[in-house]
Amino acid sequence: MVATHLDTESMHEHVVLRRGVRSGLPIVVAVHSTALGQAIGGCRVAQYPHWRDGLTDALRLAAAMSDKCALAGLPNGGGKTVVALPPGRALDAAARRAVLHDAGDVIAGLDGAYATGPDVGTGPDDMVTIAERTPHAFCRPVHAGGSGDSSGHTAVGVLATLRALCAERFGSADLSARSFAVLGLGRVGGHVLRMLADAGATLVAADTDEGRRPLADTAGAAWVSPQDCLTADVDVLVPAALGGLFTPHTVPTLRCAAIAGPANNQLDTPVTADLLHQHGILWAPDIVVSAGGIIHATAVELHRETSAQATARVHGIADTLTDILRTARATGSTPAAAARARARHHVDDDERLEPHERP
Ligand code: NAD
Repeated sequence: MVATHLDTESMHEHVVLRRGVRSGLPIVVAVHSTALGQAIGGCRVAQYPHWRDGLTDALRLAAAMSDKCALAGLPNGGGKTVVALPPGRALDAAARRAVLHDAGDVIAGLDGAYATGPDVGTGPDDMVTIAERTPHAFCRPVHAGGSGDSSGHTAVGVLATLRALCAERFGSADLSARSFAVLGLGRVGGHVLRMLADAGATLVAADTDEGRRPLADTAGAAWVSPQDCLTADVDVLVPAALGGLFTPHTVPTLRCAAIAGPANNQLDTPVTADLLHQHGILWAPDIVVSAGGIIHATAVELHRETSAQATARVHGIADTLTDILRTARATGSTPAAAARARARHHVDDDERLEPHERP
């Protein structure tokens, strides 16, 4: 079939695909939008079956970042860097440095339209390496002038949204009365599990890495397989590993009443939000739930706020989610549709302002 029109609304402003001159590896930098300000989004270094899959991922993740920034009230748009490693390819220190410099050069070529940060496969130290090629890298370690690892702030935002979600779904924000299945005990999931344990919640947890099991034991969580965690009979499922978890195949197997977690791009396609709704599962959009880290980092590093001001903003995610869930309930739509409409509205409103009137 021949395409008859260009879907310009979802089109990215700028996409660079380059074979790194040092590393020879495919590097994608996607700038989805700078309508609200500089595009921001992490640098993912991960294995993909083919570099085209990395390109697809970068496009999706950059677009999601635009909505995430709009919903978080940030004066920023969305972007993403993806370094697509061939299957089975690991990076030694020299190869890692080479690829991070290659990525830094691509970002430098965008003249400040986009700034990067840590994501899956990169951390604060890698931002120091990227910053050797471009100033547009945030979340460097505190000793290197950045705001450091943002995962603790992401987890604080997740906890705030879990309370808001429970208030909406179960009529009380008290986490001690609820059961949770935390899937993925990495940097964010580990923090979330500990905070839920401190709040007195009943817990189930899983990770593909058996080395994370002591974390579950310390938190008093029952350790199960990732598959059993996904389908656990709990109040709330907390996806904290990778995306693409919810599909027409997995949704009918779920036994939770609600879902909220930091994992990016949890749905295989946007229509899966409708399927979750039809199954009576309240899904809190990941672009709202996972925003704590980026809110804190940009507030402190790009907008020079104090850590206390930034933390207050992170807690504000809970109010945003409550508004979205209430709008969805009142209009009979899904939280995903309500979030999308709110993000669009925010961008449209901002575009009507003169530059000096923007936040
Ligand atoms: P991480 O790499 O530290 O942790 C991910 C954990 O998931 C690892 O322990 C890994 O072993 C586990 N895992 C991988 N595949 C799994 C599977 N199939 N089943 C169970 N466990 C599995 O990553 P992170 O920084 O904790 O981020 C987790 C998610 O949250 C990612 O999707 C990330 O994009 C998203 N996120 C993170 C931040 C942040 O501040 N770090 C911010 C926003 C969103």
